[in-house]
Amino acid sequence: MSSMSKPSEFEGKILVFTAPSGAGKTTIVRHLLKTFDNVAFSVSATTRPMRDGEIDGLHYHFISLEAFHAAIENDEFVEYEEVYSGSFYGTLKSELERQWKAGKHVLFDIDVKGAMSIKSQFGAKALTVFVEPPSVDVLEERLRMRGTESSASLEKRLAKVRKELNFSAKFDKTLLNDHLPTALEEAEHMVRDFLTP
Ligand code: 5GP
Repeated sequence: MSSMSKPSEFEGKILVFTAPSGAGKTTIVRHLLKTFDNVAFSVSATTRPMRDGEIDGLHYHFISLEAFHAAIENDEFVEYEEVYSGSFYGTLKSELERQWKAGKHVLFDIDVKGAMSIKSQFGAKALTVFVEPPSVDVLEERLRMRGTESSASLEKRLAKVRKELNFSAKFDKTLLNDHLPTALEEAEHMVRDFLTP
């Protein structure tokens, strides 16, 4: 799909995909980025440790707590949260501007509070989608299989999932991910509808 509008006509939009950890969001986000060449990923800043296979500047900007606090002081974030105790995550204004200037709509993978904050700041310019897992049990199973979390971290994540599931009604759209190919297709439709003027 060709998508680069002329810069003068381009009105950058925001796509927010939020999901409990393990709901299959990463697969959906990757699929959308592959499908739409006018959509780019917003790389958040975080203070959490880098996981095996992650690349600084690609998955996140991995920064120290001091640097994160300095960025808060300098008003560099569109939004930020202490998503897990001691681990901060935030969307940089510079990241959003950079992508819009390049003629790209921006896709965010952020938590519930971040999504609500983006929606209240950007209104109709933003589409918020909540990716719903089939059940908490399935999620727990997926997270254990993924094997990236210690048992304490897994418990923290599951507690957050239970809380987040109550918020799905506040999103523009809900996307049930109980069958991945269907979820991918639905995600594609949602994005296409939203981006088509
Ligand atoms: P993870 O540690 O698994 O990469 O991400 C943990 C959570 O932080 C996910 O729910 C993810 O969506 C959220 N997150 C990532 N970046 C941001 C951000 O910039 N702002 C907010 N509010 N949440 C974020």
